[in-house]
Amino acid sequence: MPTLFEKIISGEVPATIVYRDPRVIAFLDIRPAAPVHILIVPNKVIPTTDDIDDEDESLVGHMVIVARDIARQQGIAKSGYRLIINCNPDSGQEVYHLHLHLLGGRPLGPLVQRPV
Ligand code: 5GP
Repeated sequence: MPTLFEKIISGEVPATIVYRDPRVIAFLDIRPAAPVHILIVPNKVIPTTDDIDDEDESLVGHMVIVARDIARQQGIAKSGYRLIINCNPDSGQEVYHLHLHLLGGRPLGPLVQRPV
């Protein structure tokens, strides 16, 4: 079964694409948690960070470089932003196709809620 993000990559599921190259695609998150919320997704299907192989080092680095460039284009590089990758259930990962969240455009608050 193709992942949701494979369907976006192939065009079967529509998305607002802001960047693509032979290795990655970037599109707007359907439920944005901030004024800028963009997902950077590799074309290669890697379910989680735990499935990243050593040979994927350049690809994963490329995802971060793409996020940096999109943040500049979106005008949030200086105000600041957060990059997040969720992995497996405790992180709340919903889509099991590696993706980097780029979030910004407002103060984002603490990274993780501390237990009370
Ligand atoms: P995760 O929780 O797996 O790290 O993040 C998955 C993200 O995918 C969520 O932020 C969610 O809003 C987003 N998402 C889920 N379904 C769709 C969709 O059909 N289109 C787009 N553009 N984003 C989606």
